[in-house]
Amino acid sequence: MKSNVVTSVEMKIDWSAQTILPIEFRGREVMLDARAYQGVEPHVQALALIHRAKDTANDEIPLVRVHSGCVTGDIFHSLKCDCYAQLQAAMDRITSTPVGVLIYLPYHEGRGIGLVNKIRAYALQDQGLDTVDANIEIGAPIDAREYDLAAHILFDLGMPEVRLLSNNPAKVEALRAEGIKVSEQVAIHTEPSIYNKRYLETKRVRMAHKL
Ligand SMILES: [Zn+2]
Repeated sequence: MKSNVVTSVEMKIDWSAQTILPIEFRGREVMLDARAYQGVEPHVQALALIHRAKDTANDEIPLVRVHSGCVTGDIFHSLKCDCYAQLQAAMDRITSTPVGVLIYLPYHEGRGIGLVNKIRAYALQDQGLDTVDANIEIGAPIDAREYDLAAHILFDLGMPEVRLLSNNPAKVEALRAEGIKVSEQVAIHTEPSIYNKRYLETKRVRMAHKL
């Protein structure tokens, strides 16, 4: 089994690079181990940010967030989704736990359908469709995200077992299907806004999120 894992890491990760990245988070400076990865397709890139407290035991199971990139939410703090609030909550947990990892996947924009399709779907939602039906209307998959690169990154980091920060049972299942042992699903709670109430309700009712 172990040799299979090594083989698939070699297949899926074409390039990686590493540096120390100091960040400012909620008024304090945090040093993170930053690793960038590129899959076989050049647009499939990811950033892993690793926080490790001093004197951490080697058998500590890492707390991991696999975060789908969202330009409108993560960068501009859009109120139409809860991505920014989830990212902040995840960074808070990750930087205050013995071993915490954020895997950021920019190519997951709009649940994997890209920025243009996401904005087209927003326009349809303004006409009354929910997030699932809007994607069906534009002929895009409801969720096109794949987690193979994230799983390979975890193997590369020597983390085959994780505690996953997520409300999304499909994400847990997807990582398990790639061979990652998810020993615990840790929920993230965020406050709804008037703009994302329906988005969150659709996640809960139609996509089985634990909200
Ligand atoms: Zn978002």
